[in-house]
Amino acid sequence: MSDGGADDKIEIVKGFIAPVRLRYTVNAGRASSRFLRGLTEGRILGQRCPVCHKVNVPPRGACPTCGVPTEEDVQLGEVGTVTTFCIININFDAKARELPYAAASIVLDGADTTLFHLIQEVPVAKVRMGMRVRAVWAAERGPSLESIDHFKPAGEPDAPYDSYKDHL
Ligand SMILES: [Zn+2]
Repeated sequence: MSDGGADDKIEIVKGFIAPVRLRYTVNAGRASSRFLRGLTEGRILGQRCPVCHKVNVPPRGACPTCGVPTEEDVQLGEVGTVTTFCIININFDAKARELPYAAASIVLDGADTTLFHLIQEVPVAKVRMGMRVRAVWAAERGPSLESIDHFKPAGEPDAPYDSYKDHL
C-alpha cells in the first residue's frame, strides 16, 4: 500500500476524450449579412473605420481597434499576401482534403485584417510568408466563407516583408 511518498510512480495523464458539444445559432447581424451576401455574389467586402481608416474583413459592424460603428463597405480584391501559415497533417472534418495541406492568414489587397483560409494547388513545402495568392471560388456559392474554395498561388513575386509585417 502506498504511503503517498515522493517515490510513488505517478502516471502522467497526456490526454482524454471529453464528448462535449455546444449547439448554438448565431444571428449574423447587418455587417456580417452584407459580407455573407457578397460572398454569394462572388465579392469580398470589408468595412472601413471612420476613425483609423483601417479596412476590416470580415466586417463586424464596429472597428475592433476604435470600438466605433463602421458603415462604409469596401470591395476587396481576390489577391492577397500570406502573412503566416500552418501545415495540417490530421483531417478534422468531413470535407477531407489531401494531407498534408496548408492554411494561412491572408491579408487581401486593400484590407488591414487577415482572413484564414486554405492554400491549395501548391506543394505545402512551397507555401511561405509573403506568398501572393488568389481566391478560387467554389462551383456553388452561398452565404459562407466556403464560397471561396481555397486560395492558390497568384503567380506574382513575393510581397516584401515590410508590406505585411504589421498584419502578423
Ligand atoms: Zn478604427
